[in-house]
Amino acid sequence: MHEISLVRSLLKQVERLCKQNDGTAVEQIEVEIGPLSGVEPLLVREAFEILSFGTGCAGSRFVIHEVPLKARCSDCQAEFELPSFVFVCSGCQSRAIQITSGNEFRLLNVTIQANQAANIPKPRGGGYETEHIA
Ligand SMILES: [Zn+2]
Repeated sequence: MHEISLVRSLLKQVERLCKQNDGTAVEQIEVEIGPLSGVEPLLVREAFEILSFGTGCAGSRFVIHEVPLKARCSDCQAEFELPSFVFVCSGCQSRAIQITSGNEFRLLNVTIQANQAANIPKPRGGGYETEHIA
């Protein structure tokens, strides 16, 4: 199950991003998965739930965008979706097609809670400087 190692490195990447941006928690992680990536979205979700436990990503929303399999025909330049893994141009039946989307497994977006120290109210009734009266 290579989903485990993919999700593990995904979590590392997200935690690094969170640290770099001075974040305190990860709210949402969005990934893109194409049907040719060899990655099973359900297994990715399961792996995320298991592996994120105890990390900075625990409890964050995990959103999977499934990318359609698309191709372009080299003969007639048509662009089309391949819903059933039939690698033939839907326009001219040519087999000279190039996959343009569907291979991806990648991090799309991360939403983090930032450390907003500036908005924390100062304690009242203390901390004022006393004036020295001569
Ligand atoms: Zn064609």
